[in-house]
Amino acid sequence: MQSPDTIVLRSVEEARDEILRYFQPGPAERVPLLQALGRVTAAPIAADISVPPFANSAMDGYAVLGADVQSATPDAPVTLRIVAEVPAGGMTDLPVTPGTAIRIMTGAPMPPQADTVVPFEETDEGQADALHAAGLVRIFKRVPTGASVRAAGEDVQAGAVVVPTGTLVRAAEIGVLATVGAAQVAVYRRPKVAILATGDELVDVGERPGPGQIRNANGYSNAAQVLAAGGEPLQLPIARDTERELMARLDEGLQWGAELFLTSGGVSVGDYDVVKKVLMQRGQMEFWRVKMKPGKPVAFGVIDGVPLLGLPGNPVSAMVGFELFGRPALLKMQGRTGWSRPTLEATFTGTLSDRADRRQYVRVRVQQRDGIWLAHLTGEQGSGVLTSMMYADGLMIVPEGMTLVEPGTRLPVMMLNWPEVAPDQSFGAADAGADCC
Ligand code: AMP
Ligand code: MG
Repeated sequence: MQSPDTIVLRSVEEARDEILRYFQPGPAERVPLLQALGRVTAAPIAADISVPPFANSAMDGYAVLGADVQSATPDAPVTLRIVAEVPAGGMTDLPVTPGTAIRIMTGAPMPPQADTVVPFEETDEGQADALHAAGLVRIFKRVPTGASVRAAGEDVQAGAVVVPTGTLVRAAEIGVLATVGAAQVAVYRRPKVAILATGDELVDVGERPGPGQIRNANGYSNAAQVLAAGGEPLQLPIARDTERELMARLDEGLQWGAELFLTSGGVSVGDYDVVKKVLMQRGQMEFWRVKMKPGKPVAFGVIDGVPLLGLPGNPVSAMVGFELFGRPALLKMQGRTGWSRPTLEATFTGTLSDRADRRQYVRVRVQQRDGIWLAHLTGEQGSGVLTSMMYADGLMIVPEGMTLVEPGTRLPVMMLNWPEVAPDQSFGAADAGADCC
């Protein structure tokens, strides 16, 4: 058994890097397209066809030869003979020859030889006069040759990789994948995370707390965070602070196939309680003091081959601890390569004074005014005040040693709802070296 004296002091980055060493991208599975939303691709997906597959009209109008309409003006319109009509989903083999036009709808394939579409707005479309009745159309305005024609493959070329490995699938990826026929998509499996709230004082959400009792918040907030990070949570029943019960819960999690345990409570420094004792007996555990506030005590190690992240019991600390250490691990298991939330620089509007010489993660709501971001406190910053987290959209990072933060101080805010971006993330067009804009 390890000694509880092995408590080490770590920075947030040291703790996170050490934790991440225990996780690798997991196995892949194929899922129906829509179920890939929020997941990460485990293989590159190439286009089976070009998109669009054929040159087509971008407007409702007349397919013409560009050369025929270059002289058109409102006073001297060009008159062309209408030889056919193509709706979207239709086709025509009839070519457009000099002096003729084919009436065409948006999305319909361009007729042979036609190179330009004149929108209805530039014609006499809708005027019930003799010329029109005779199957003739007047063009009132010159449009450049090639106008309103979408080239085959303008969006995607057949055979090109449209979504590389490691891409977070959002609504736009779902749409692009649909156009290239990806009915099934290979994505990383959702990591299975067993969640264990510990404490003799806890009762479940459906119960009314008796004297000295509180409801279990962490078992729910942590499970929600796991879901949001793409994982599959298992909420184990609350574990009382007894060795027997903790052991039994860990066994339940192992049987379920947990790939990560997330516990809350019972890891405080100087608190020789049963969680610590059981973790030390049963696994290779380390107990850290991380130089952060909230959430200084964190345990991490391996129980029967499964990593365990032991978060503090205070509800804000448990959530912030998951955000900084648990979420990156889940992202890495799902093949993501960026695990830092984007930060923005904001101007603090409140006052904070704290003698703790630790980095602080302060709950703020950001607001943009006159082109600058303002960061407002979301209330009392105690680590038990969970509503401060509920009102927050970011965590303002106060560096170690800054004991007084006055209004007007510029500080980074880690945005809690902005997705992590890989350090080397670039766009398809940039990869291809295409000119921008
Ligand atoms: P501990 O880390 O076990 O010493 O707990 C620190 C504080 O967090 C205590 O006030 C606990 O009652 C509270 N706490 C522990 N676990 C939970 C939980 N699951 N939900 C809400 N509060 C908790
Ligand atoms: Mg406790």
